[in-house]
Amino acid sequence: MKCSHCRREAIYFQRHSGRHLCKKHFLYDFEKRVRYAVKKYRMIESGDRIAIALSGGKDSVALTHVLMNLYGSRKDLEFFAITIDEGIKGYRPPTVKIAKKITKELGIDHVVVSFEENFGMTLDEMVKLGDKKPCTYCGVFRKYLLNKTAREMGANKLATAHNLDDETQTILLNFLQADIERLARLIPQRVQKGLVMRIKPFRELYEKEILIYCIVNSLPIDMNECPYSHFPVRAMVRDFLYDFENAYPGRKFSVMRSFETLIPCLREMFPQIDLNKCEKCGEPTPSKVCQACVLLEELKKAKDSNS
Ligand code: SF4
Ligand SMILES: [Zn+2]
Ligand SMILES: [Zn+2]
Repeated sequence: MKCSHCRREAIYFQRHSGRHLCKKHFLYDFEKRVRYAVKKYRMIESGDRIAIALSGGKDSVALTHVLMNLYGSRKDLEFFAITIDEGIKGYRPPTVKIAKKITKELGIDHVVVSFEENFGMTLDEMVKLGDKKPCTYCGVFRKYLLNKTAREMGANKLATAHNLDDETQTILLNFLQADIERLARLIPQRVQKGLVMRIKPFRELYEKEILIYCIVNSLPIDMNECPYSHFPVRAMVRDFLYDFENAYPGRKFSVMRSFETLIPCLREMFPQIDLNKCEKCGEPTPSKVCQACVLLEELKKAKDSNS
């Protein structure tokens, strides 16, 4: 099949637009949509120092690559990458290696921060000791370290590789679970003291397009799944959205647009609150003690009672 814009062979059929795209026009479209999202939500502005959350998985590798491609030469911007090593045997080491390789190739500063160094134990050890789900420990401690490291290294923005599929799943999940407060956390450009502002330049791109971007740019990709990933409800929502999108291409954009229409109401319902400083570690928290310190205390107790 020929490209809808030129005479080259198409490599991708973009169902929501009905266009066949060759490599050149796929990349043009991909970069244009990243730029569009960045501009629409004012994600990147002159003077920004941006930390990229780089796990080494395909999405974050593509994010690092495209950001450096589009904005890396701008003198008024600074970028560096942070990789969190949770300590998941067999799964994380290969992606840390990829993260090191890609940052070296792109010439950006890169820091690897581990659970073990910061909390005295790996995620694998936490899972053995504690009674919570692995993703609870992983999510809380990863967010904590990303924010702390980004802030301490002078970043005012933290770029994550969440894509259209991730975002629409989360939007729908929050509706289905009647968790509207959590839905409000997805509002772009939410600023809270002590929290580095999150930006999501891939929020208008399908996951499969990110994979194709990696392939056409010969980026290193690791397709292994985390051994702890087990999200039955999210998987149902993902499959539903997949089928819906398949039958009615472009509906994930509709979910996103509906959410955006609700943003003014969500802002009113859940105004931003001033966060406290955690009594134990000084990190921002809506409570007296942050969630990371609470979990760490539980784990330390479990460790002591085991020894
Ligand atoms: S699936 Fe694995 S990497 Fe993802 S949050 Fe859960 S434990 Fe962490
Ligand atoms: Zn073309
Ligand atoms: Zn704390």
